[in-house]
Amino acid sequence: MRDYYEILGVPRNATEAELKKAFRTLALKYHPDRNTGSKESEEKFKEINEAYSVLSDSEKRAHYDRFGSAEGAGAGFGAFTGAGFGDIFEDIFGDFFGFSGQRRTRPARGNDLRYDLEITLEESAFGAEKQIEVPRWETCSMCNGSGSKPGKGPVTCSHCKGTGHVRFQQGFFSVSRSCGACHGTGKIITDPCTACKGNGKVKNVRSILVKVPAGVDSGSRLRMSGEGEPGAHGGPPGDLYIIIDIKEHVVFMRRGNDIYCAMSITFPQAVLGAEMEVPTLEGTANLKIPPGTPSGKAFHMKGKGIPRLGGHGKGDEVVVVNIEVPKHITPRQRELLEEFAQINGEKASRTFKEKLKDIFSGAEK
Ligand SMILES: [Zn+2]
Ligand SMILES: [Zn+2]
Repeated sequence: MRDYYEILGVPRNATEAELKKAFRTLALKYHPDRNTGSKESEEKFKEINEAYSVLSDSEKRAHYDRFGSAEGAGAGFGAFTGAGFGDIFEDIFGDFFGFSGQRRTRPARGNDLRYDLEITLEESAFGAEKQIEVPRWETCSMCNGSGSKPGKGPVTCSHCKGTGHVRFQQGFFSVSRSCGACHGTGKIITDPCTACKGNGKVKNVRSILVKVPAGVDSGSRLRMSGEGEPGAHGGPPGDLYIIIDIKEHVVFMRRGNDIYCAMSITFPQAVLGAEMEVPTLEGTANLKIPPGTPSGKAFHMKGKGIPRLGGHGKGDEVVVVNIEVPKHITPRQRELLEEFAQINGEKASRTFKEKLKDIFSGAEK
């Protein structure tokens, strides 16, 4: 291993300023951007970096001077090829090579958006096309997202020298923190763009056609790839999620892929049986009520429900019958019912109240 002082071409008693100057000169000379494809330059560049990362740190330097190696000279040394690589450059050159720039302007994916879409039960059963208006942040076209008035670009933050973060020493570690003056952007906007007020983004409303597939239910999530907010620095846009909510229906109640409806029948219909016309999602259908149908009986009409999403077949329509008791009857109807009750062996004139009285007085014992 070559001597670090030799690599940088400085004497062993070189001051910090001398080290920095030597490193700067050599790094500029051998920087890969200036020596594209040269393996030799690349090696040399790495060497310079390694030497400087050790000698510029007083603790590591003292260890190196004593033991002739940087091993164990404190944390962070082994990582110099990684993130530490750019950090040294930021300290020395600021934004010169664009190291810090790369970090700050790394492509970032845009935010996902959520849109709650209310549809009818029929639309969930047959599918639908819905035009929706989605407000979202978009890059300001006036300033191209810079946030500054055209021609009055942002100035480099003097606090962090445009790096977007400030470094400080904490024990062995060199810690980096986002710059508070420019909020980590490295730039200060002096003349904000009037269209976006320096934000770089404006809220726009986009009209999007949503194809709602048949079979969706409340809570179903439709993903529209790339319809979210735009990404930053060339990153991909986020996605738009449509969350389905089905409006309450006046006739049907949905449970899974089945739909339920209540149907009133008369006492004679329940006793004698009947042929009924019942509502369906597609119109009407005939339902046969067999003689002797009790109240609350459920009839399944196969395949008259909601299609299975992404599958085959449909659910059922379930018709629950309910025997309707008339509130008002004609004298003739009363006569007939009383006769029916008599034949049935029941005293029709006895009211429920009288019956209750009997029970409590013990008359029924
Ligand atoms: Zn703007
Ligand atoms: Zn700053």
